[in-house]
Amino acid sequence: MLEPLAGAVPAEWVRLDDRFAGIRGDSRLERLWTGGRWVEGPVYSAAGRYVLWSDIPSDRILRWDETSYQVSVFREPAGNTNGHTLDEQGRLVSCEHGNRRVTRTDHDGSIRVLADGYNGGRLNSPNDVVVGSDGAIWFTDPAYGIDSDYEGHQGEIEVGGCHVYRIAPDGALSIVADDFNRPNGLAFSNDGSLLYISDTEEATIRVFTVDGDKLTGGELFAECGNGAFDGIRLDSEGRVWGAAADGVHVYHPDGALLGKLLVPETVSNLCFGGPKRNRLFLTATTSLYSLFTTVNGGRQPYDA
Ligand code: MG
Repeated sequence: MLEPLAGAVPAEWVRLDDRFAGIRGDSRLERLWTGGRWVEGPVYSAAGRYVLWSDIPSDRILRWDETSYQVSVFREPAGNTNGHTLDEQGRLVSCEHGNRRVTRTDHDGSIRVLADGYNGGRLNSPNDVVVGSDGAIWFTDPAYGIDSDYEGHQGEIEVGGCHVYRIAPDGALSIVADDFNRPNGLAFSNDGSLLYISDTEEATIRVFTVDGDKLTGGELFAECGNGAFDGIRLDSEGRVWGAAADGVHVYHPDGALLGKLLVPETVSNLCFGGPKRNRLFLTATTSLYSLFTTVNGGRQPYDA
């Protein structure tokens, strides 16, 4: 027997460019769960058929089961986790505000610290994370988890600013971008050649060229017209889907705003899931939403 949904709201797709034609989906957004404080970091497991996400102030990771629609607590306390991803072996990689670190949950369930400091200082509060084509882990480190005790533990910046980092396959940590205000969401292009990174304080997305273990470029890709960008994901055609205050903004790779999916709560992050990667999952303030779309999510660079 399936659990009833926590509700549903009409899904409103707004076309702003003719190239948005054909991009649509269900006529309603399913509210799969509600009751969080500030939910973030959705990740879909195709093998496990579940979504994990964080409720940061409540210090827990939740798990929605695709087969039963039931929601359970996956981990609590959770170190005030924020963003998650899966690595090329399907292991959960998590950003932890509270412990100021990035961790990996190994196949035996043990939690391994991948990065927690740079040059003798503790990281601020890792926010979001992606895995590159070579297995390196790239993450952002703004200060939202140390600004106050709400999303972590109030503290000082010990690493000189809010940077973007790369953990090499051998574990070495390096700064790959140090000119952000509050770097937040990040996503690779499907071939791994580009890395898009949002800056919540600047309400922008910038695009970098991935040059081995370094980034070059970093020009402005998009400016958010409603609130600020948080999490970002790409679909299979390279379009950039950015979380914003009024919903999800969809950009052509040339930077044009094609359209929006309006959502009744401020969206923090998103991911494509389902066996065909055509089901969009949204974390939005207090709730987890989903709907099926006519597009498919992009592959991870290590799958290319
Ligand atoms: Mg974020």
